[in-house]
Amino acid sequence: EHNKTPSKAQGPDPGRIPESGPTGSRITATIKSVQVSGRSSNPPPVGTIPRDCAPASSIGVRREDSDSISHRRVTICKNRNMTHRPILTHTRAELADALTRLPGTKALVMTMGALHNGHLQLVREARELADHVIVTIFVNPTQFAPGEDFDAYPRTLDADMDALETVGADLVWAPAPQDVYPTPATVTIDPGPIARVLEGKTRPTHFAGVALVCTKVVNLVRPDVALYGQKDAQQLAVLRTVFTQLDIPVRVHAVPIVRAEDGVALSSRNQYLSDDERIRARALSRALRRGAEAAEAGAKPAQIVTECRSVIDAEGGIDLDYIALVDAGTFEILAGTESVPVGEGAGPVTLAADGTREGRLLIAAKVGTTRLIDNMEVPLHAEACACSEHAGENA
Ligand code: AMP
Repeated sequence: EHNKTPSKAQGPDPGRIPESGPTGSRITATIKSVQVSGRSSNPPPVGTIPRDCAPASSIGVRREDSDSISHRRVTICKNRNMTHRPILTHTRAELADALTRLPGTKALVMTMGALHNGHLQLVREARELADHVIVTIFVNPTQFAPGEDFDAYPRTLDADMDALETVGADLVWAPAPQDVYPTPATVTIDPGPIARVLEGKTRPTHFAGVALVCTKVVNLVRPDVALYGQKDAQQLAVLRTVFTQLDIPVRVHAVPIVRAEDGVALSSRNQYLSDDERIRARALSRALRRGAEAAEAGAKPAQIVTECRSVIDAEGGIDLDYIALVDAGTFEILAGTESVPVGEGAGPVTLAADGTREGRLLIAAKVGTTRLIDNMEVPLHAEACACSEHAGENA
């Protein structure tokens, strides 16, 4: 199967946003001289006022040549179908000031930028959940270990702003590391056992960094709801655990994985892949699908993992880190790798609406030098009970 000629020409990730986003009809009352904090090479058309919008309020923006806050007029758009240029902020003061001018409920979407359609889907769903959508773009140093791709990680703020304009984000916070960490972080968050397996085993400091930055940003933005993608399923489970146990008052909303036409889960890191590697990378989602099909046919956990692994083995040239089947909510490992107690507070097993246990099949692998992760929901049929009382039911 892996020798098949690809049916589609290999180009950039189909989910990737074009370099310049579409511009809708709008009244342009642009204040050309404003460049927020001098960090954007290309100042966004701030002050761009969409039609059909409510009266303006003012917002503080630091001019390039000064630390003073000048106020300009911005418009709060009441029409959900309208898109408009989001307000771009960099410093904490700019963020705080902008937030005071967004009345109503707020949804937070945290990203590391290099936005693709998966990120934009979070924003689209966020718009349905709150009056205003705040997007953060920050490559968080504390979640990268030495030797990982922190420096190489793509930073494309102008294109990200264009993309966010098309989906109607209201406010963007794109801080520098010193804006998020004004003093060196001596406080750490240990999310517990859930952060020590799978991704946490390969990247032992990763989830502490994620928990720290997400807690700080949620505290700074104070959203009603924060949206995270199932693409990073373990991150989602870690954050639910951290927010719940630290009593951080935010609702967490999970968004399903957005995939390219060839099945590859959209990821900012896909752009590291060569054309050949991109073709090989398709095996990850194919393998998960094979596992999910086995699960639907009633396979037991170990067999589901074996089926999944067989696709990776057949493809070849993929440096597998792990394939594991976990409980979708608690992340209790059911097959694939050594089981580690999930600890108290992990909650009861996760059941789907039809009463079957909900599992998640996870894969992590390097294709070339690029580390990719992906996962898929799988239904788990109840193990047949061997006791004499239930013997008749399972016949
Ligand atoms: P990142 O910029 O990679 O940190 O991702 C920011 C958010 O977008 C996280 O909550 C991710 O889980 C989510 N995300 C990234 N890729 C996808 C995707 N393909 N589908 C759904 N959500 C995604």
